[in-house]
Amino acid sequence: MKTISIIGSTGSIGTQSLEVARERGYKVCALAAGKNTVLLERQAREFAPRLVSVAGEEEYRDMRARLADTDITVVMGDEGLCRAACAEEADQIVNAVVGIRGLRPTLAALQAGKQVALANKETLVSGGALVTGLAREKGLPIIPIDSEHSAIFQCLQGNEGNAPRRILLTASGGPFFGRKREELAGITPEQALRHPNWAMGPKITVDSATLMNKGLELIEAIWLFGVAEEQVEILVHRQSVIHSAVEFADGAVMAQLGVPDMKVPIQYALTSPARLPLKGERLDLFAYGSLTFQRPDEETFVPLAACRRAIRQGGLKPCAANGADEQAVELFLQGKLPFLQIGDLVWEAMEAQPAGEADSLETILEADRAAREYVLAHAHTLR
Ligand code: NDP
Repeated sequence: MKTISIIGSTGSIGTQSLEVARERGYKVCALAAGKNTVLLERQAREFAPRLVSVAGEEEYRDMRARLADTDITVVMGDEGLCRAACAEEADQIVNAVVGIRGLRPTLAALQAGKQVALANKETLVSGGALVTGLAREKGLPIIPIDSEHSAIFQCLQGNEGNAPRRILLTASGGPFFGRKREELAGITPEQALRHPNWAMGPKITVDSATLMNKGLELIEAIWLFGVAEEQVEILVHRQSVIHSAVEFADGAVMAQLGVPDMKVPIQYALTSPARLPLKGERLDLFAYGSLTFQRPDEETFVPLAACRRAIRQGGLKPCAANGADEQAVELFLQGKLPFLQIGDLVWEAMEAQPAGEADSLETILEADRAAREYVLAHAHTLR
């Protein structure tokens, strides 16, 4: 029986990871979340981990009181996240935290020799060189949970020694695909939070609406699969049936298909290379009739263009783009920032970031902080 630790257990990926753990009968030795102590308590009572971690002092006191009748250790903050990520008994860690906060625990888990199943793409966008360097040094694979990257990972299995010539990274296009810049001016958080195909946490849903998510995924793919930016083609595929594909030297293209259901890549990250039964809807291609592909409009969806430019320039630029986006999306969700400014600020903060290598955690966190400050200083906030 496998033992896992899940950080970000109360979120969209975290709760689905626990559903997989329940179905597979896995033992869960540590859980970490932010502020949702009600759900975390329910999870802790069902899975009986040794340790739970929460965001800060207030949640810590609350959680201690909730679990007073148990022998579960309660910890908090970034330190707590790292403890959960390094839990001694864990065979594997699921990192389903949102944002750059996931970077430190990823590094800590790898340092402790743990295999990481990674949903937290911001980890690779901000600290790709550091994370992949450490994983190589430790001889540990990083197993993607992101559906597109899981698809690529699956297409590459059995093809060891056959380098991909091209990666075809699919994108749903989000709720505003086809619109021009002037049509996006008044978009509200409520409209941006309505994704056509996937139910996800608020930050990634907004990132999908601006296409920042595809920019982050472009960078994630480059780090995970060791390809150059020019080798990754982005295709808007509205039906989200082909989760991504790989073209090989002979022109053969292998793709992974399925209904949009994150439990498939989550379970595969935990069981690969084995494919085990999983309840859920099955793909009926007749129901779709046809599958369509279009090019993304990078003039309208500026964040995608910003990420492409950031990874071409390399160093701390992707980290700055990511930090600016996290801050801008937070302001947008609070109703304080117009939708289009997210992309403009990501672009500007990325350009403002001086060149420099992303070669230490401190440098990365400093670039992240500077990008957030840039956004706060330059946002034309709404009242
Ligand atoms: P959610 O917003 O649903 O969940 C985020 C999780 O992070 C929650 O458990 C939250 O805890 C936790 N968290 C937030 N702040 C802190 C903190 N300060 N300390 C500890 N934990 C914290 O996000 P998603 O599940 O949608 O996404 C998670 C990651 O997975 C992201 O990087 C996203 O890009 C990636 N991803 C998500 C997909 C999806 O389908 N949702 C698909 C592919 C990738 P709490 O709620 O208790 O505050």
